[in-house]
Amino acid sequence: MKKYYLMAPGPTPVPNQVLLAMAHPIIHHRTPEYEALFARVREGLKWLIQTTQETILLAASGTGGMEAAVANTLSPGDKSLVIRAGKFGERWAEICQAYGVEVVALDAPFGHTVPADRVADALTKSSGIRAVFCQHSETSTGVLHDVKGYAEATRGSDAILVVDAVSSLGVADLPMDAWGVDVVVAGSQKGLMLPPGLAFCTLSDKAWALVKRARLPRYYFDLLEEKKLVVKNQPHFTPAVSIVVGLAAALAMLQAEGLANVFKRHDRLARATRAGVEALGLELFAKATPSPAITAVVSPKGIDGERVLATFASSHNITIAGGQGEMKGKVFRLGHMGYVGDFDVVVALGALEQVLAELGYPVDWGAAVGAAQKVLAERAP
Ligand SMILES: *Cc1c(COP(=O)(O)O)cnc(C)c1O
Repeated sequence: MKKYYLMAPGPTPVPNQVLLAMAHPIIHHRTPEYEALFARVREGLKWLIQTTQETILLAASGTGGMEAAVANTLSPGDKSLVIRAGKFGERWAEICQAYGVEVVALDAPFGHTVPADRVADALTKSSGIRAVFCQHSETSTGVLHDVKGYAEATRGSDAILVVDAVSSLGVADLPMDAWGVDVVVAGSQKGLMLPPGLAFCTLSDKAWALVKRARLPRYYFDLLEEKKLVVKNQPHFTPAVSIVVGLAAALAMLQAEGLANVFKRHDRLARATRAGVEALGLELFAKATPSPAITAVVSPKGIDGERVLATFASSHNITIAGGQGEMKGKVFRLGHMGYVGDFDVVVALGALEQVLAELGYPVDWGAAVGAAQKVLAERAP
């Protein structure tokens, strides 16, 4: 027997409290019980997303939330500005194109970011942009983008700022109302410590105004129809009942920890992971602000990144992630978001030392673990 560890940047481990809550017999969604549960979830999400706005829950993976954001805010032929510095940035552009929305791309090499002044420039130079799309945490490269700066650049314009926060909600600070973000999209299986299957869309007044005029086709993903019922604690269609039950439990755990502590924990675990990786002489893929959700590591010369994750799996029964698209084979990615604590990092780095040694890399035993321990010990318990 080898104990299994899920250490990918999504899906992430689900805590026992949440699993047990979800093990209860299914309740019907048109009952006072469901309405009471949903009322608690609505309040919890306002707290988590730092907003007074309602959040729409959709039974979909995170990409469903991204598609809903595009389909509900734009019309055929509209122009969008897409920050494209990774695979998820490319996904925004692909969704827009699938819906016949014109894409003006702001590209940066993978591993880098797009500074906010480029967004401001693009908005003044290219007229008629209706929406700016970006990631907060670009999970494919491990970079945290400057959403606060993008919001400042967008605020004075007619465009809305749509943020894919799938791997940053409950991980990195994203005060929606204070920063002036117009749409926050999230998913259940990353920082929220839940199984995959729920997507979240939260819209500002500016975004809801756009929804009323938007002409792109939509049916299941009709956010306005959902909103009419959300305020009555009712679902439009059959919701992912078990995951909503789990969400209430996960929100209670996050509330008990406190939002500031949740962000501090992720920051500490990410710094410990990076310190460990660098202590082995490895290079981080992120050349801009690194994401607290995930660490992307450049695979050492002569070692294919796919072999690193395959060896994690075959020798240690640990799931990590490889590189997506053109980064395949060049990087491997360690997730540290959601239900993670100090010693998960120690496990991941201990295994990394073993894996690299097995693949012929000269490992100074304990170097990664030791460097991480120093960061973890900073904290007064
Ligand atoms: C995981 C993720 C998504 C959504 O992926 P799904 O597989 O559709 O859940 C979107 N954006 C980012 C940044 C992600 O990390």
